Amino acid sequence: MAVRRTAIRLSDGRELIYFDAGVQPGRDAVDRRALPPARPDCELRYDPIQQTWVMYAAHRQDRSYLPSTADCPLCPSTGGRQTEIPAADYEVAVFENRFPALAPSPAHPGLAGELLAARPGAGRCEVICFTSDHDASFADLSPSRVQLVTEALIDRTAELGRLPGVEQVYCFENRGREIGVTQPHPHGQIYAFPFVTPRTSRTLSSARAYQRRTRRNLFDDLVAAERAAGTRIVREGRQWLAFVPHAARWPYEVHLYPSRRVPDLASLRPAELDELADFQLDLLGRFARLFATPAPYISAWHQAPVRVGRQDFALHLELFTMRRADDKMKYLAGAESGMDAFTSDALPERTADRLRELAK
Ligand SMILES: [Zn+2]
Repeated sequence: MAVRRTAIRLSDGRELIYFDAGVQPGRDAVDRRALPPARPDCELRYDPIQQTWVMYAAHRQDRSYLPSTADCPLCPSTGGRQTEIPAADYEVAVFENRFPALAPSPAHPGLAGELLAARPGAGRCEVICFTSDHDASFADLSPSRVQLVTEALIDRTAELGRLPGVEQVYCFENRGREIGVTQPHPHGQIYAFPFVTPRTSRTLSSARAYQRRTRRNLFDDLVAAERAAGTRIVREGRQWLAFVPHAARWPYEVHLYPSRRVPDLASLRPAELDELADFQLDLLGRFARLFATPAPYISAWHQAPVRVGRQDFALHLELFTMRRADDKMKYLAGAESGMDAFTSDALPERTADRLRELAK
């Protein structure tokens, strides 16, 4: 897909990039808000027991919470109202988050030491708007728009991965008020982390240990095992396989893998991108039909880190909801929050049956 990319600067110096499928007017529109320069204060503190970094962003307390449609900062600008996006309309727009968890030149000086280490939260957080239509959702996008979104994620993954100190680029969408989404406008986020995240570190050490023991790739064998078992497959395509994992943790959880193992979105071929858009819309449509109202969800792209483990990792999407019934949410309580030990009352085979029934 031919993508037109136009980068501008917002009035406080943050970057905004339009991604268009064709030539569009207004990409030179200027941000007239005269915002003060962004001075995020982001700090990372190391937990030597859990061996993880925790991110602190004190400035995030000030961000807007569930603004009314008339105040939405992700809608296009109109004559009378300036938003984060200066153009009067847009297809896909990406910009640096005004309230980031990680930022390129934070004020924090850092603190050396083995037990109480801290450092600046250097990295980058971006917002990606999928459509200018405030009331739409990802599931409402056209297949070509989904592809444009993916092209934008590919661009951002490559560019952010080249920034000094960035170790991992993570693209995700949080959807639904129940999980703390502060903006209802359809959008996702991109985090460029200055460390390999705990989840990915654990994944890579599992893959390495499996490789040492068997001389085989863990993801290849796991996807083959799910394919052979067959009981948890939600949909099988020419290029992609969607299944509820054998040990799913969430009430409804689907993992989507390309048939050909690749490290990241940029490695996908045109036929894979084509079918991907169809699968994403299909799966999100099923999630929208699970309950009386569309399920809140998290859609998380797992990509290989920038520098390590690229030959072992397998790109995949993990889509899940914490809603377990029309009016019931799964809360991470004592077992989960206290011990990282998940409990569930729905067997993955049953939830896969249910998701299969919801095919259109
Ligand atoms: Zn909006």
